[in-house]
Amino acid sequence: MKVFVYSSHRFEKPFLEKLAGNKHELFYSPYALNSNTAKLAQGCQAISIFTSCDASAEVLEKLHDYGIRFIALRCVGFNNIDLDKAKTLGIKVANVPVYSPYSVAEHAVALLMALNRKIVLGQKLMKKNDFSLDELIGFDLHGKTVGIVGTGKIGSAFANIMKGFGCKLLGYDSIENKELISQTNINYTSLEELCRQSDVISVHCPLNTKNKYMFNKSNFSIMRKGVFFINTARGSIVNTNDLIQAIENKTIGAAGLDVYENEKDIFFRNHLNNVIIDDLFNKLRSFPNVLITGHQAFLTNEALTGIAETTFRNINDWETKGSSENDL
Ligand code: NAD
Repeated sequence: MKVFVYSSHRFEKPFLEKLAGNKHELFYSPYALNSNTAKLAQGCQAISIFTSCDASAEVLEKLHDYGIRFIALRCVGFNNIDLDKAKTLGIKVANVPVYSPYSVAEHAVALLMALNRKIVLGQKLMKKNDFSLDELIGFDLHGKTVGIVGTGKIGSAFANIMKGFGCKLLGYDSIENKELISQTNINYTSLEELCRQSDVISVHCPLNTKNKYMFNKSNFSIMRKGVFFINTARGSIVNTNDLIQAIENKTIGAAGLDVYENEKDIFFRNHLNNVIIDDLFNKLRSFPNVLITGHQAFLTNEALTGIAETTFRNINDWETKGSSENDL
């Protein structure tokens, strides 16, 4: 099959090429899918897209006209696809529902630890020959209460790591994960109680039509003073403007973010010679107690191998059986 790979990055090509083998011909573009780039896929039967791609109704119609019948996501989240429209057009869409959840969970822990133990500041001071410790005090995680929003695969992996640190765990999810309860003694509660009681809050739920700005000024206002807020899920789950206010009024003691609501125009690219014109983002990254990574939580060898394996299993199944086990 001829497959057009949108939003392709140098780091993932070896993993994709290995799994495509001689079976499929891959065409790469660094550009995300949108109404202007849809035509690049003309002549292919399938496309593969990533989180920054736009597969809205208008774009899907164009793709259909160009002969595209399969869309293989190289990620878990599918909030960027109009699935109803795809169904109407007869375009099959599949995601990669599982790949190393440890990659994202461990990155959330890395953000938390780096912020708490002032690793970035400590490194900057060390480079200046300043080994004074006055600005570098953190806190023991042992005994602290960690609130986990979304206790699926990644949230569970995160919970188990935090359990290892000796934390008390609170969970918020419509589905109580019985296995996780027996592994970690996590206590399920309402979002409000989780916000009130947690010293650390980490977000691991998907973005859907109902939870845009799930974190906003009303629940930031009831959080413990100095709470550490970690989001490796999706940017639009958090109202960034309200988060900035909560950082300014010191409710949020530190924020570790791997995602940002307007990341589409910023992340995954080199802007070395450009000015980033996004006041919200520029404000956010100006805070010393905010650590931002550019949607890199999944970036481990194990996760990239898993993503490539499932992407090509989906494509192979479409070619041979017309459907895949991960069809959405
Ligand atoms: P999952 O489906 O295994 O778990 C998601 C959990 O969230 C489920 O238990 C579900 O019931 C729960 N949930 C759904 N809506 C909720 C809500 N409004 N409030 C609370 N809980 C809710 O998914 P996963 O593999 O654990 O991935 C979670 C999310 O992490 C993905 O949807 C994706 O957005 C994000 N993610 C980010 C990266 C990254 O690189 N930063 C990589 C992979 C996934």
